[in-house]
Formats: sequence, C-alpha cells, structure tokens
Amino acid sequence: MIKTFKIAVFDGDGIGPEIMRPTVALLESMASRSSAYSFEFETVPAGAAHYAQHGESLPEASLAIARGADAILLSAMGLPSVRYPDGTEISPQIEIRKALKLYAGVRPVRIAPGQPTPLALKGGQEVDFVLIRESTEGLFHSQGSRDVRDDQAAYETLKITRETSEKLFRFAFALAESRKAAGRGPGKVTCVDKANVFAAFAFFRKIFDEEAARHAGLTSDHAYVDATALWMVEKPWIFDVIVTENMFGDILSDLGAGLMGGLGLAPSADIGDDHAVFQPCHGSAPDIAGQGIANPFAMILSAAMMLDWLGASHGLPEMINDGKRLREAVEAAIADRNTVTRDLGGAASTAEAAAGIAARLV
Ligand code: ATP
Repeated sequence: MIKTFKIAVFDGDGIGPEIMRPTVALLESMASRSSAYSFEFETVPAGAAHYAQHGESLPEASLAIARGADAILLSAMGLPSVRYPDGTEISPQIEIRKALKLYAGVRPVRIAPGQPTPLALKGGQEVDFVLIRESTEGLFHSQGSRDVRDDQAAYETLKITRETSEKLFRFAFALAESRKAAGRGPGKVTCVDKANVFAAFAFFRKIFDEEAARHAGLTSDHAYVDATALWMVEKPWIFDVIVTENMFGDILSDLGAGLMGGLGLAPSADIGDDHAVFQPCHGSAPDIAGQGIANPFAMILSAAMMLDWLGASHGLPEMINDGKRLREAVEAAIADRNTVTRDLGGAASTAEAAAGIAARLV
C-alpha cells in the first residue's frame, strides 16, 4: 500500500521559491514512480516578504499546518532590508525550531569526488561526517532576553539540560549506528565541548558518557571545540558523527560548509521527537534573486535528507534508497560539471541544474 506524506512547504524569500520549485518537482517525479510513497504538498506563507506585507513573519495558521505535516521543507528565509522594530532579522526558521522542539540540527559534511574544496585531499582521505548541533538551548538559550546593565555589562546564559542532552546523544548514537549499517562510517561519536573550563560542558560530557556506555557496538571519544576546529581542517576524515552544543555547532557547521566548497552545497535537517524541517544552510541571496541562476543543490540535498528521514521513520527502504539516489545524482552532476551553476564555476541556470539531476534519476 502506498503511504501518502503531507509536506508543509515554506517557499521563503529571495531565491527561496526559485530553488524550492524544482526541488518539489523532483520529489513529485520520484514519488510518481514509487509503489511505496506519495506526497501531498501544501505551500504556506512565512518570511520577511510576508512580514513586510502583513506584519507577521510566521502566521499561526502556517505553524499549525507545519505541526500537522509529516515533514517540513523550508527554503531560504529572511531579507537584510526587512527587520523587526528592534533591528533583528526575520527568521521564522528559528521560531519553528523552538515551537516544534527540533533539538537535533543535522549538518552533513561530505566532499564528493570532483566537489570544489579548499582542502588538498589525497587518495584514501574521504571526508564524510555529520555534525549534530543541539538547536534549542546552549548559549542560544537567553536569545532575546537582552540583559545589558547600565550600558556597562551584558550577560547571556548557557543552558544545558539533562532531558535535551539525553535525547540529543540518543539521536547521535542512533545516527552512528545507521551510518555504520550503511557502510558510511565506523560507528563513532565524538562529543565536542569545553569541559576543561566550563562546568556546563563537564555536565554535557557526563551525560554523553552515560549514553555512550549503552552502545557496546559503537565507539565514542571527546574533543575540545578549539582542537575540533583545527582537526576539521587538518584531518577531517577522522570524524564520523560529531555532537555539540548550539553555539559551537553554529560555528563549526559553517566551517564544515567551507570545507564543502561553500554554502551552495550544504544541506541541513532540524529534527525533534515528532517533527523535522529540511532546509539549505545558505541564506536567501537577494543579490541574485529573480535571475534564475541560484544553485538549487543544497535545497535538493536537504530534500534527499527528508526522503531518508521519512523512509527510516516509517520503515520504507524504497524511500531511503530514493534519498540516496537523489544525493548521488547531485554528486554526479557536481563531478561532471556540465550542469552546475555559476557559484560552482559552471554556467547552468537553476532550471538546467535541476534538469541535470532529473536526467540522472530516470
Ligand atoms: P543569511 O544570514 O540569511 O544566512 P548570508 O548573509 O549568509 O545569509 P546568503 O544569502 O547565504 O548570505 O548569501 C551569501 C552569498 O552567497 C551571496 O553572494 C549569495 O548570492 C551567494 N549564495 C547563497 N546561496 C546561493 C545559492 N543557492 N546559489 C548561488 N549563490 C548563492
């Protein structure tokens, strides 16, 4: 029997709709050939342009549809020219993350053959790891509280809870397990912290070690965040699954995107117990919006992660396999270079780049 998944689609701002359109078309075409799954897409408004017009960045009705969906596809959001009265940027993606308790920010760092990278990789040095950024607490916990006293001192609070950390580490070990089963990693989880200086990180590490002790078939280790930054450049092939706090993860995931040749190829997923959002790491690129030249690959790779997550959560191997096929089609397009956009050194339009992927899926 075919399982139909409801997908809430946020087109976003700037290039957002331009990269979402071909992504949904690719998903529809894969589903039309599947005997296991189909999709019902529902596009819902949110974002900076919506705020400018209607005074709200994430309408209640949009959030309700997202809550009721099986998964959420979210394109680039925000525009530098549109701000809240306090000067901060419109970022409904952060509101959704908080509202749906999406604690695991999954950021794959993978350098496929032929992918532009600043690293000089030699044979056998394969970079394919996943960084998991806790996304609901850590140093982002006090975001918005604005504790600035008499223009003399400012305070932020770093919050680590047992409840969220336990879920986060369970997620990290389950991911390492499934990567090991798929032959993509040795089954190792590295906890990245600063436990030598901060009690909050010693607590984070203690909870990590408790979870590690429950996984006899996997290995685990620790690394300080400063050393991790160094090793991600010097020897990134040593990593399999990295799990870390919100702020550290924020910074390290951009370093990871840099290793992958920039944000144009960096997908992401934000996953909680009951919901998940799939979104490219890059912004809305207003400088190139409307020209039909945006690179759709990070959005398409995020959709591949959605297929993988839905397939794994609902026991549909065909869907997991389609996620793999979609990712491999993007990697093949990158290697052959004929259908890549300008930011990757090619000349293809968004539509031509997406057509290159569709051609590889038949
Ligand atoms: P944000 O703060 O919203 O994440 P940002 O300041 O990092 O945004 P982006 O919108 O990601 O900025 O754009 C940074 C640069 O990368 C811009 O020059 C933009 O044109 C380019 N860029 C970003 N995404 C893409 C894409 N998908 N295709 C082509 N170029 C892109």
